[in-house]
Amino acid sequence: LEEQLRQSQKMEAVGRLAGGVAHDFNNLLTIIRGNAELLRSPTEDAGDSALFDDLLLAADRATALVRQLLMFSRRQPVRVEVLDLNEVVTALSGLLRRLLGERVSVETVLAPVPVTVRTDRSHLEQVILNLAVNARDAMPGGGTVTVGTVVPERAPPGAPRFAQLTVADTGTGMTDEVKGQIFEPFFTTKGPDKGTGLGLATVFGIVEQAGGRIKVESAPGAGTTFRVDLPWWEGSASVLARTPAPRSLAERRGGRAVSV
Ligand code: ADP
Repeated sequence: LEEQLRQSQKMEAVGRLAGGVAHDFNNLLTIIRGNAELLRSPTEDAGDSALFDDLLLAADRATALVRQLLMFSRRQPVRVEVLDLNEVVTALSGLLRRLLGERVSVETVLAPVPVTVRTDRSHLEQVILNLAVNARDAMPGGGTVTVGTVVPERAPPGAPRFAQLTVADTGTGMTDEVKGQIFEPFFTTKGPDKGTGLGLATVFGIVEQAGGRIKVESAPGAGTTFRVDLPWWEGSASVLARTPAPRSLAERRGGRAVSV
């Protein structure tokens, strides 16, 4: 518990710092990127334009990093609603398949009844996506990612019950030393060009804010399973029946089919 407290205080401090720095940094990047693009005239010789291309690439990479920092500091408002984890996972599975590529097969193992929680949909999606992208990165030669949901066991009245979301992979797994640091902001084993070390720190923050907890099971060569426990929403069936299903993109644009 002390460890958890220490971690969350650290997260809060880093989050506040990150939010402030990221905002200013973003403005500077816009100038750098804009000027590099202007200077990169098509008449320059090939050597020069390669330099400008590098500059643009670096600016884009920095922009992506800043975006992650902003997300990490969670400046966006929280919109809490009653959600069925099964529905959220199903709605996301197409995007997951595209994102994880051909070498990774995505499987879902869903509880046979709605798994209701009360939380922010985009935060939940971010948790699933971050865990799934890490799973992909741990399987350079391909493999399987299994996203699952579990309804809580029966508990005595009044005892808290947790719905469970799992993301499991058949990848490299982790040593105990790595496992002990993965939720630390900026911890990464992917090298500075690929990793930011903010994915799991963000996941940790979101889960904590939602009143849940996250556990990891992993060993070198044996793959990794992340288990996210979220407070179970008891008023389930009746509330869900009244909650309209998420509207499709076409409906949102006034009922006409649109190509994106
Ligand atoms: P990043 O992905 O930018 O490295 P994360 O915070 O998402 O940052 O992850 C931190 C580290 O945790 C990764 O660099 C990796 O070493 C380890 N890790 C996370 N998920 C997995 C996984 N599914 N399998 C193996 N290692 C993992």
